Amino acid sequence: MTALRAAVVGHPITHSLSPLIHGAWIAAAGLDADYVQIDPGFDGLAVFIEDQRGGGDLCGVNVTIPFKEAALAAADEVSDRARLAGAANLLLFRADGTVLADNTDGLGLLGAMAAQAPGFDPRAGPAVILGAGGAARGAAAALVLAGAPEVCIVNRTHERAEAIAADIGSPVIAVDDPRLADANVIINATSLGLNGGAGPDIDLAAAPKSAVVMDMVYRPLRTEFLQRAAGLGLRTVDGLEMLIRQAVPSFEAFFGQAPPAGVDVRALALKAIGECA
Ligand code: NAP
Repeated sequence: MTALRAAVVGHPITHSLSPLIHGAWIAAAGLDADYVQIDPGFDGLAVFIEDQRGGGDLCGVNVTIPFKEAALAAADEVSDRARLAGAANLLLFRADGTVLADNTDGLGLLGAMAAQAPGFDPRAGPAVILGAGGAARGAAAALVLAGAPEVCIVNRTHERAEAIAADIGSPVIAVDDPRLADANVIINATSLGLNGGAGPDIDLAAAPKSAVVMDMVYRPLRTEFLQRAAGLGLRTVDGLEMLIRQAVPSFEAFFGQAPPAGVDVRALALKAIGECA
C-alpha cells in the first residue's frame, strides 16, 4: 500500500484532470503516493468524510461539484479564505480525526492571471463575475482579499448573486446590468461555453482595452467567450491555467512539498482534452 494517498471527490467525477496533474507530479518527485478519483454518490459526502475521520486511508481530498459548500460545513476548522468564499475545494484529514477545510480556487485564479496577464492588478478597478455558483464565490472572495475595490456579481438567478453579496459583504454587489466601461477584469464563472457552446451574452466591446477577460471553462480551451475577447484585442486568461494553479497548494498540503519543477502538466492536460499544446 502507498504511504500517502489523496483524491478528488465529486459527483460525477469521470472527467476530472486532477488525477493526471497530481499523478504526473507524484511520478516526477518519486513519491510513494497516489492520487485517485472518488464518486461517493450524490448523497454520499457526509458518510465519506466520517469514514476518513475514523482512520481512512486518505491524507486529504480535493472537492468538486456538487460538494464544495457541504465540504466546508463538515469541517472542524476552516481557513479564512474558505470561510469568506463559503466553499471548500480542499479537505485535510488529520491523525486526530479532525478535518481542515481550505479553498485554493482563488489562489488558482490569481495565479492564472499573473501567468497569462502579467502585471494584472486586482486593486486597479472593478471586477465583474458572471455566475453565482461555487466557482463565482471562490473568485469573489479571492478578489476581495486581493484588494479589488468592487466585485459585481451577475447571475441568471439574481437571488444567488444577492446571496454572495450578503455573505461576503462590501465591496461585493449583485447587479443585473454590469457597467463594463471601467471593468478591470471580467470572469465567466458560469458553465456557459462548456463543450463549445456560446459563452455569456454580454457586450465585451463596452469594456476598456485594459480589461482582462477570464473564462473558468476550459473544455474547449479557447472558449467562444475568450475568442470574442481576443477578437476585441483584450487580454485573456484560460480556465486550464486556473485548474493547474489551484492544484499547486493542494499538492503541497497533501504531500508536504512543492510540485517538482520541469513537469509540463499543462501539455499533458491539453493532450488529455484533445487540444494542441
Ligand atoms: P455551479 O455551482 O453549478 O454554478 C453554475 C453557474 O452557471 C450558475 O451561476 C448558473 O446560474 C450558471 N448557468 C448555468 N447554465 C446557465 C445558462 N444556461 N444561462 C445562464 N447561466 C447559467 O458551478 P460552479 O462550480 O460554480 O462552476 C462554474 C463553471 O466553472 C463550471 O463550468 C466549472 O467547470 C468551472 N470551474 C472551473 C474551475 C477551474 O479551475 N478552471 C474551477 C471551478 C469551476 P443559475 O444560478 O441561474 O443556475
